[in-house]
Amino acid sequence: MALYGIPVLILKEGTRRTVGRDAIRANIAAAKALAEVLKTSLGPRGLDKMLVDSFGDITVTNDGATIVKEMEVQHPAAKLLVEVAKAQDAEVGDGTTSAVVLAGTLLAKAEELLDQDIHPSIIIEGYTKALREALRILREIAVPVNIEDRDTLRKIVRTAIASKYVGGDIVSSKLSEMAIDAALTVSEKKPDETREFRVDDVKIEKKKGGNVLDTQLIYGIVIDKEVVHPGMPRRVENAKIALLDAALEVEKPEITAKINITSPDMIKAFLDEEAKILKEMVDKIAEVGANVVICQKGIDEVAQHFLAKKGILAVRRVKRSDLEKLERATGGKIVSSVRDLKPEDLGYAALVEERKIGNDKMVFIEGCKNPKAVTILVRGASDMVLDEIERSLKDALNVLRNVFKTPKICSGGGATELEIAMKLRDYAAKVGGKEQLAIEAFAAALEEIPMILASSTGKDPLEVLMKLRQLHGEGHIHAGINVITGEVVKNMIEENVIEPLLVKEAMIKTAVEAALAIMKIDDVIAASPAKKEKEKEKEKKEEEESFKPSSEF
Ligand code: ADP
Ligand code: MG
Repeated sequence: MALYGIPVLILKEGTRRTVGRDAIRANIAAAKALAEVLKTSLGPRGLDKMLVDSFGDITVTNDGATIVKEMEVQHPAAKLLVEVAKAQDAEVGDGTTSAVVLAGTLLAKAEELLDQDIHPSIIIEGYTKALREALRILREIAVPVNIEDRDTLRKIVRTAIASKYVGGDIVSSKLSEMAIDAALTVSEKKPDETREFRVDDVKIEKKKGGNVLDTQLIYGIVIDKEVVHPGMPRRVENAKIALLDAALEVEKPEITAKINITSPDMIKAFLDEEAKILKEMVDKIAEVGANVVICQKGIDEVAQHFLAKKGILAVRRVKRSDLEKLERATGGKIVSSVRDLKPEDLGYAALVEERKIGNDKMVFIEGCKNPKAVTILVRGASDMVLDEIERSLKDALNVLRNVFKTPKICSGGGATELEIAMKLRDYAAKVGGKEQLAIEAFAAALEEIPMILASSTGKDPLEVLMKLRQLHGEGHIHAGINVITGEVVKNMIEENVIEPLLVKEAMIKTAVEAALAIMKIDDVIAASPAKKEKEKEKEKKEEEESFKPSSEF
């Protein structure tokens, strides 16, 4: 509408606007492109991606969550998909690649329906019905497992980390055993036969150098710091630990005070006063019975000297998160002022010891009051290896947490997706109408998962799909493709390829929700990029980066 021939502008100049089916198509294209990138990373035979960030740092991985996090995605719809993938990773910690790939395929199939002039709202309705039915089928075909059976846990973990580079069978078997030991140790057994723990309860500490096989599980906490003074003991048994988040230093005044010193005696008196305060702090620590001090802030040299004289082992500049872990592990309490320290604030550990790890020294706190404290100390030749091992361990712990929470599994290798697809087709026929087409498209999207796994082995995906459909038709509901052997098999569970129900459930839900969210957008109003601001920000970031100290003290 125009008033007296003057157009009414409601948007800023330079704003781009895409509406209706054009908007839907543009968004679908972006999401498909992202899914296309991830497709080839799916499964144990998936290929790695090398990601280079704006600072030139590289990451090599085939972990879906990491890939989407590191990729600097521009398109808003693709960004939405990235956010969804991150949410999936935060919630269940696995199945991210599958979720993004499935979302992309759901959208690709939706596009075909749009081409046949089917209204987006019908597709949305059909997909929503299909999701509900898919989740119902999924719960029906899931198999209950005994989570106290180590062999079952081993199979689940091995399936989850099969797709990560971890340097062969010996390494992945060692990592699996460690993850299982750690999870069993930190988790709490519930009356209903489930177990509960948080993945963060297992501390993962990376130390460059050595061999991946030197990675060890420690029943306690490891801190990447050394004992602060050479005169202190390196080993304390029956440790009574003071956890401080205040500095053992004399506070310097905020304002610059001017002191007129007129004689050498005055300097001495001044320094004596400082030493006296520090000595009082140390005396207080010794008095309450502490023989170990873990401090978040600094420890003055004079204080170090007094501590050493009392035979107290001290560590300074410890991370806040470590201090909090120690609080839980040793049963101590973080104290903000030495003056308030009481004997009951001290934590307990059977042993505190500094050990040489590679070229560095680390402090081990073992036999803690709370036996649920564990650390996995990861070793490896480069940061890249360390990071991928950490991701593998996190995946392992995540699947364990999921199956502990809901002790049910699904068959992997595309078996579950295919079975759901088969049953969805029957359901679609019952629904009928145009929605039937949408539900069938949903089923076809699920079938992409076994097809992609088949392609990763070099097999003809269509041939594999036909064979799988036939097996499922004969009632082999767990038939899938084992990508390690390259064989289509009747029962993936017997091949030890199993995944927690919770992961599959979240994967399907996430994918559909993302696809629906993208399809519901019919208007994209994009402000013209504020280029100058962005560039300034980038420059600032680069400047900060270059000023970052190369190591911390
Ligand atoms: P995601 O990020 O989705 O977890 P992965 O790269 O970990 O992606 O791959 C997971 C997929 O690989 C699942 O569908 C799982 O069933 C499958 N998978 C794992 N091991 C095997 C195997 N030996 N044979 C066939 N498929 C497998
Ligand atoms: Mg995985």
